[in-house]
Amino acid sequence: MNSECSGIFRLKSRKLQASLKKRSKSNSIFAPMSVAHVDDEELPGPGPGELYQDEKVFSNGDMYTGEWLDNLPHGHGKYSWNDGCVYEGQWQKGKTMGNGKFSWPSGAIYEGNFKKGYMDGKGSYTGSNGETYRGSWVMNFKHGHGTMNYPNGDSYEGDWRRGVQEGNGKYHWKNGHNFVGQWRNGVIEGKGTLTWANGNKFDGFWADGLPQGQGTYKWVDGSYYIGSWSMDPTEQSGTYYPAKGSSVPGNIEWEPQHVYRVEMEECKVCPHEKISMFPSQKAMGFDAPSFHKHSSTGRLSIDGRLSNGSNMSTYSWDRSYDSSGNGRRHSIDAFGRISLDQMPRNIHPILLPKTIKKQGETISKGHRNFELMLNLQLGIRHSVGRPGPPINLDLKSSAFDPKEKFWTRFPPEGSKHTPPHPSCEFKWKDYCPLVFRTLRKLFKVDAADYMLSICGNDALRELSSPGKSGSFFYLTHDDKYMIKTMKKAEVKVLIRMLPAYYNHVRTFEDTLVTRFYGLHCVKLTGTQKKVRFVIMGNLFCTEHAIHRRFDLKGSSHGRTTEKPESEIDPTTTLKDLDLNYIFRLQRFWFQEFCRQVDRDCDFLEQERIMDYSLLVGVHFRDSCVRPITTADGKTNTELVAPRLSRVDETDRLVFDPSEWASIRLGINMPARAEVTVRRTDCEAQLVGDPTGECYDVIIFFGIIDILQDYDISKKLEHAYKAIQYDPTAISAVDPKQYSKRFRDFIFKVFAEDG
Ligand code: ATP
Repeated sequence: MNSECSGIFRLKSRKLQASLKKRSKSNSIFAPMSVAHVDDEELPGPGPGELYQDEKVFSNGDMYTGEWLDNLPHGHGKYSWNDGCVYEGQWQKGKTMGNGKFSWPSGAIYEGNFKKGYMDGKGSYTGSNGETYRGSWVMNFKHGHGTMNYPNGDSYEGDWRRGVQEGNGKYHWKNGHNFVGQWRNGVIEGKGTLTWANGNKFDGFWADGLPQGQGTYKWVDGSYYIGSWSMDPTEQSGTYYPAKGSSVPGNIEWEPQHVYRVEMEECKVCPHEKISMFPSQKAMGFDAPSFHKHSSTGRLSIDGRLSNGSNMSTYSWDRSYDSSGNGRRHSIDAFGRISLDQMPRNIHPILLPKTIKKQGETISKGHRNFELMLNLQLGIRHSVGRPGPPINLDLKSSAFDPKEKFWTRFPPEGSKHTPPHPSCEFKWKDYCPLVFRTLRKLFKVDAADYMLSICGNDALRELSSPGKSGSFFYLTHDDKYMIKTMKKAEVKVLIRMLPAYYNHVRTFEDTLVTRFYGLHCVKLTGTQKKVRFVIMGNLFCTEHAIHRRFDLKGSSHGRTTEKPESEIDPTTTLKDLDLNYIFRLQRFWFQEFCRQVDRDCDFLEQERIMDYSLLVGVHFRDSCVRPITTADGKTNTELVAPRLSRVDETDRLVFDPSEWASIRLGINMPARAEVTVRRTDCEAQLVGDPTGECYDVIIFFGIIDILQDYDISKKLEHAYKAIQYDPTAISAVDPKQYSKRFRDFIFKVFAEDG
């Protein structure tokens, strides 16, 4: 036995004896047990399901005193970490759960509700800088309604989301200024009124903490200025109106820029303290891996306490790493390896290719669409490279006019506005260019990067027509953008819904609907042939290999891949009936997901759109090459098997600050994919039954194909198909039914991880 371990053992033995004695005298709630003898090896530990009191000191200096159940803190107890953090309160199966108090060595304290280790429910936080927050928490974040009192004397009362002010809220500055209105991502954004201590006020729209867009500045004397506000003086415009009955235009000399330069300078929102380490991120001495490590020279008694001496090479342990409480018996050898024959029965390796090749065929010289690609690149360079006026997010309705389309001729020899080029003469059309330019700004696409992706030296790749519609799809070399050819009717739908689309994506930053960046048309001179196309974001632009992709609509008719199983690879788009997973998201993300799917579906329904899909890409985390035996008895080393998920692993990802920054709804989202199986007796079962077999995955998803409206042809299709099939199982139902069916299905495929 090494000295470290024997040290722990001695201390533990003494404490154990003392605590057992104490227990036998004073604590009648514990089940009776023998405490007369103190030889640990002989100790009959508490039986399964038996609550007992104990104090344990772990090898790293952490200590826990309190109640235990099945080898885990349970009931009331106090855990002190070696770095000075302390939790005292209620526990459930090793997780802080119920009411408790967590204190950091900095002096910061959280007191309130905990759920599964997270600060969650009602609670108050007092920072080391003196700030206090009282209100709602969700998974370590201030989320819901709450009040913050800042150390500088300012205060905020209102809505919070993901740790920052978002929604409606009132901010009071110590110097007497007040704001009442909307917030987003911790800054004033939306509509609201700021009243300065002298009684003057600004009432209107805000962006990034400053007046932006329409607004009125009012003086206490009744005079006011109405206009369109901007930090950029060249974009500011408005009119001053003196107070009623006053002949003296008291503030005529006043400059709106004064608001930005001086008055807003006094209205800075106080930053709040960053919580250095969340309670849920703290490792605990009784966590399985460390417990296991320190016990490798001793034997674990039934309650997990060390017993002395015996030199067994294998011992059993009644709790798996899985903190979900589904205890499984694993056999562990003297080196701490879990023996494979004892692996839980339900771990089946998922077969994945070692390397995933880039999708599509590069369009090089000689390719049938080489010229089209050149035209497209010339056209984009022309449209995007052209200088334009400064972008104002408040677009005039004229920008959306369907007549807002501009033809440019591209003769091979070049013209005043176009460069010479090697292909035949063609014409290029831009639809609503100002709207798409503003959309690119809204989606934070830099014009130079956009041009480089599409029109740089690298060729596009043509995908082998993934959809049924006959559209062609192209990917940029860097995978950022996808170009889809469109029918005239689809262009019409996009133009028709553009104002609503613009408002939707502007209001809901996390929308899942496809991001459109440009709409164009190429017409070869001398022919009637027009190719219309839209440029959109590629949902799977990521460094993670996408191992599986699913296009989900919620209907069953024709919703399986036509490929034989042997040809299915990571580029195959699988469909509803091929789906064999439920995706479990952390509660916070699941709530966000449901909210956003509802908003997006409401929007699509209002626009009478149907036939859209939720496209989901799945990356299996930490997949590794390892030998496995295939069905025909051969050993194959080409195969990659992801490992079984642990709930804690997903938690770690979600709250690891470096990972956190890259996660957004639908992008880079940690989740657990639980394998499902369909009952064979149940034909219409779209979502199979969960099996308990879970994998750590990262998922990417979004709503695609949103340009099909419920036109006459769909009505006809429906009438025709309804004669032969169950009308709710086919794709073409009216937009309301479509949206309902889609949501019902999606909310079964995605679930809360719990
Ligand atoms: P169908 O009529 O069969 O639904 P379609 O020809 O209208 O198809 P889409 O549904 O838009 O085409 O897309 C077909 C496939 O192309 C999708 O299933 C997906 O694999 C891929 N795809 C489409 N849009 C995107 C995107 N934005 N990002 C990544 N992949 C996409």
